[in-house]
Amino acid sequence: MVLDDLGSSLRGTLDKLRGKSRISEEDVEEIVKEIQRSLLSADVDVSLVMELSDNIERRALEEEPPAGTPARDFVLRIVYEELVDLIGESTDLPLEEQTILLAGLQGSGKTTSAAKMAWWFSTKGLRPAVIQTDTFRPGAFEQAEQMSERAEVEFYGDPDGEDPVQIAREGLEATSDADVHIVDTAGRHALEDDLIAEIEQIEGVVEPDRSLLVLDAAIGQGAKDQAQQFDESIGIDGVVITKLDGTAKGGGALTAVDQTDSSIAFLGTGEEVQDVERFEPDGFISRLLGMGDLGQLAERVERAMAQTEDEEEDWDPEDMLQGSFTLNDMQKQMQAMNNMGPLDQVMDMIPGFGGGIKDQLPDDAMDVTQERMRTFEVIMDSMTDAEKEYPKAIGANQVKRIARGSGTDEQQVRELLEQFKMMERTIKQFQGMGSEKEMQRMMQ
Ligand code: GDP
Repeated sequence: MVLDDLGSSLRGTLDKLRGKSRISEEDVEEIVKEIQRSLLSADVDVSLVMELSDNIERRALEEEPPAGTPARDFVLRIVYEELVDLIGESTDLPLEEQTILLAGLQGSGKTTSAAKMAWWFSTKGLRPAVIQTDTFRPGAFEQAEQMSERAEVEFYGDPDGEDPVQIAREGLEATSDADVHIVDTAGRHALEDDLIAEIEQIEGVVEPDRSLLVLDAAIGQGAKDQAQQFDESIGIDGVVITKLDGTAKGGGALTAVDQTDSSIAFLGTGEEVQDVERFEPDGFISRLLGMGDLGQLAERVERAMAQTEDEEEDWDPEDMLQGSFTLNDMQKQMQAMNNMGPLDQVMDMIPGFGGGIKDQLPDDAMDVTQERMRTFEVIMDSMTDAEKEYPKAIGANQVKRIARGSGTDEQQVRELLEQFKMMERTIKQFQGMGSEKEMQRMMQ
């Protein structure tokens, strides 16, 4: 996650303030140094870092904490406010008819982001269309077409076309029924004059309501020049930061936001069309500081539930708490979790998990869990319905058959059955808590 390092090191430093009611000059100095170190290692521009840390230092020393506020909370609040100020509001994207132009270098994630954004708008009830004008990169047409298909949105492109400006013009006409037009453009390895000239011409034809710059989170100081050039030629209204799943940096994108005096619109967190989040500064920074982000989590849970319901109309999580728990229930529950996205991202959003428990787990613990869930899914696919309804009746011969059928080994099948038993026990306990009296007894 972007600036992940800042999150964990800052939490460590702030934790040293626990129990203190006043902070000393040394405390402030240490915190500011930590912030500077983390921001610089995340590639944030030096002058931005200085500005931010000066503000935090000044406020922490000058402002008087409200009576009874622990020092840690007081400093956390200042850091939070200053970061909100640095990162700014999310790019304004009203849910109405509009045309969005995407700019950026080759490989930054434009084509992927076009489909992701179209998917996002479609979840908001709008009718988006993706228009691919990249005639430069071989494969761009097919990629955009396939991703639009996966996002279930309209698509226009011309695999034989050579003039991007003409494709843009024809694309807008061909998709005139759509509400939101997302126009993808060609990138180059570096900023070349002909790329700038081409995008300016496309901009002239498309007349976008918003132009967004797509940036790979791993980009460092190069972001500044790119942002400046694109801003001068077409005007940048917002930034899409991609590949946040693969880097702990992201500072370059913040520099671009500052350089173009714009804001962040979307975050890309994976290769699938659903791996996109609308940027929410409050939630983003809360997550960064390990305060949890309940808003985002709620949205994901809601989305996951909707998806799971689509897949299995008559499944109701409440049933689990009433009747008997079966492997079918466990499978549905795992699908719901999968729909929420990678486990480590989900955990980041739960207060107390982000900084605390998650940091104490070995680095690959999350991957293992995710991997295990995937294996369990495969195993369950090789079971009959009767076996899933009555897992207790699964004997040694069936274990052998299921392992063979799913390409796993018997040990893994037995692990799944163990996991099931554990979950069943937990659910039984919940069921036992049904009566109010019982609940009160347990709370005492
Ligand atoms: P373009 O040249 O700017 O259109 O870039 P693409 O959309 O083709 O993306 C370049 C590569 O980055 C592709 O392999 C994408 O699958 C990958 N990519 C794009 N966005 C993300 C993201 O958010 N996370 C990850 N892991 N990969 C991404």
